[in-house]
Amino acid sequence: CGIVGVVADPEIIGNTAPMLVQGLRRLEYRGYDSAGFALIECSSYRLLVFKDKGRINDVVESYNVDKHCAVSGIAHTRWATHGEPNTVNAHPHVDCRGEIAVVHNGIIKNFAELRQLLEEKGHVFRSETDTEVVAHLLEEYLRNGSSMWEAFKRLVRVIEGAYAIAVIYSREPHRIYFARKVSPLVIGLGEGFMMVASDIPSMLQYTKRFVALNDGEYGYIEPYRLYLEKDGRAVEWRHRVMTVTWS
Ligand code: GLU
Repeated sequence: CGIVGVVADPEIIGNTAPMLVQGLRRLEYRGYDSAGFALIECSSYRLLVFKDKGRINDVVESYNVDKHCAVSGIAHTRWATHGEPNTVNAHPHVDCRGEIAVVHNGIIKNFAELRQLLEEKGHVFRSETDTEVVAHLLEEYLRNGSSMWEAFKRLVRVIEGAYAIAVIYSREPHRIYFARKVSPLVIGLGEGFMMVASDIPSMLQYTKRFVALNDGEYGYIEPYRLYLEKDGRAVEWRHRVMTVTWS
């Protein structure tokens, strides 16, 4: 039901994990049944995933989420639509190799046929969610020789429904991919970091400058860069930056 992601220059922000925890807590009012985090660990660049049914604070405490050091990460609160609330169905969802992590709000309408195609190609699914197809689809495209950016663009053309999606990939630790259709998503522009989240209040503690994504937009953030596209064309966003004065 809510998403937060952060990618930062390690010289500016040594650890993004506490920002993810704070940001997710601010989304708590939306109501949810599960919470989870995917972090790319400082220096090792390993992908770490912590998730469970229940309260954000319980997940944070049982896994010491904010004690880990993360160069980037994504976090999620879930309101289950496909698959009961439990640990396996909680987001983030990962590919078979454990390099790609996905959080998603909304519903991927054509997930069943995508899942079947992927299972025929040997992908083993762990959860009952519609979301998990995203991780396996990206993995499949990478296997066929695409770059992650190409794979992500292909994904956006293939999935149908309503979604706000954020993806991290351990081989590209300084980038977060995102896409929005129907479900809201906002970019937070920081000094030496960038955020992506379901709403502005979850980022207000860290930045006052935002770009609200339009329907059908997708792209990626890096510590000093926002790149945006729609229908295969680059989108100029600088004139859309809003500076929020409330806090
Ligand atoms: N459809 C997804 C699921 O059931 C996402 C639900 C949400 O928006 O939190 O896991």
